[in-house]
Amino acid sequence: MTLTVLNPATEEPIAELEQAGVDEADEAVARAGAAYPAWRSVAPADRAGLLRRLATLVEENAEELAQIESRNVGKPIAGARAEVGMVAQVFHFYAGAVDKHRGHTIPVAGGVAATFREPLGVVGLIVPWNFPLNIASWKLGPALACGNTVVLKPAELTPLSALRLAELCLEAGIPEGVVGVLVGKGSVVGQRLVEHPDVAKVGFTGSTEVGRVVMQGASGTIKRVTLELGGKSANVVFADADLERAAAAAPYAVFDNAGQDCCARSRILVQRSAYDRFLELFVEATASLKVGDPANEQTEMGPLISAEHRAKVSSYVDGAPSAFRGDVPEGNGFWFPCTVLEASNDDRVAQEEVFGPVAAVIPFEDEADAIRIANDTPFGLSGSIWTRDVSRALRVTRAIEAGVLSVNANTSVRVQTPFGGFKQSGFGRELGLEALDGYSELKSVFISTEE
Ligand code: NAD
Repeated sequence: MTLTVLNPATEEPIAELEQAGVDEADEAVARAGAAYPAWRSVAPADRAGLLRRLATLVEENAEELAQIESRNVGKPIAGARAEVGMVAQVFHFYAGAVDKHRGHTIPVAGGVAATFREPLGVVGLIVPWNFPLNIASWKLGPALACGNTVVLKPAELTPLSALRLAELCLEAGIPEGVVGVLVGKGSVVGQRLVEHPDVAKVGFTGSTEVGRVVMQGASGTIKRVTLELGGKSANVVFADADLERAAAAAPYAVFDNAGQDCCARSRILVQRSAYDRFLELFVEATASLKVGDPANEQTEMGPLISAEHRAKVSSYVDGAPSAFRGDVPEGNGFWFPCTVLEASNDDRVAQEEVFGPVAAVIPFEDEADAIRIANDTPFGLSGSIWTRDVSRALRVTRAIEAGVLSVNANTSVRVQTPFGGFKQSGFGRELGLEALDGYSELKSVFISTEE
């Protein structure tokens, strides 16, 4: 069956692809399995060299990759370029890490014990549509660095950049079979990777709902899983913060990628004494966001990914009085306006992941109240705290149940630092040296010194 890939800004088809089924998934796993013994035996410095070459090729082809991503996801081109820049950084980082992921020697009675990091084998990498190339690289970099071979399954809506990346892997000299790409339905080929007896691990990024299915499916073979799932993160603004700075930054924390961001700070908690002033500044900053054609260099927000997703996002705001509702381009495209709602944390819009440009602004009384509300969610991925009080910043960041936080800044995603969730936002860590642990198995060997 063919898959028609659309440009969400125009609703025009941009590619027709053959979809894989279970048989093709099995063939892809077999190819990756056949390539594994040779790949795991490549000398670490040589594997590092191949990853470095891949990083350089991403840099050399950055404009093409950014254009693919912008057209397929509806991302503003400036943002798509920045994302491709991160993809190159990821491959450079893991190229440098290949020969630094070490074991230990441990003194024990009668000899010495040594630990080794062994690759897992064939790993399935399942990625969502919101950051297709970025999230693929977060998994591919550490998986290849550790000596695994991979089958990468992009989301049905956004397979194009993964296909181009696989070509660049070959061009870099990474042997045939080490990186395979499967274009097909999650419930068919994704599920097959999860259940396949010859797949040692699945690195999954997607919704919490599908994460549950993946965890269940993996249980049959006791497969290792990393789950990077949904979020409902809080942006906590204390009255002592630099309100102008916090309000100017907040729109980017929730409307970036049209709100289709697992780290979106979509609940903005504001201390009551600063609430009115913050809301005024935040609405003003939101109104100045440039929404429109992703190909325009000035555009800051594009459309949503699909008509179906737009209907879901609408269901959270239909009929609700809004503090602000922006404009969107007329005509084709899955547009949705930036929307600011005044809410209570019990509201559906504050409890569920909307995954669209919808901010819920919620007042709080004091530090304890802020922590209580921030943690009153099944998710625990990300968040920000804005305050001039460093002790409070430390107390609150330690008390918030989330994996990735920032203080007086929007972004907490760095190539060098571990990324992942608490609670129903998943488990396991990507990025940083920590990601290498998730793509390797720890082995301990005792060596006797007895004569
Ligand atoms: P999704 O869960 O619908 O799909 C994710 C991937 O899983 C897709 O490739 C899909 O084809 C595949 N899939 C679907 N059913 C499957 C099955 N039964 N077995 C195996 N694979 C299956 O998510 P989405 O709509 O593509 O992406 C949005 C979600 O991803 C949001 O919830 C968002 O928060 C989350 N996300 C999380 C992170 C993170 O790092 N925590 C990052 C980005 C996105």
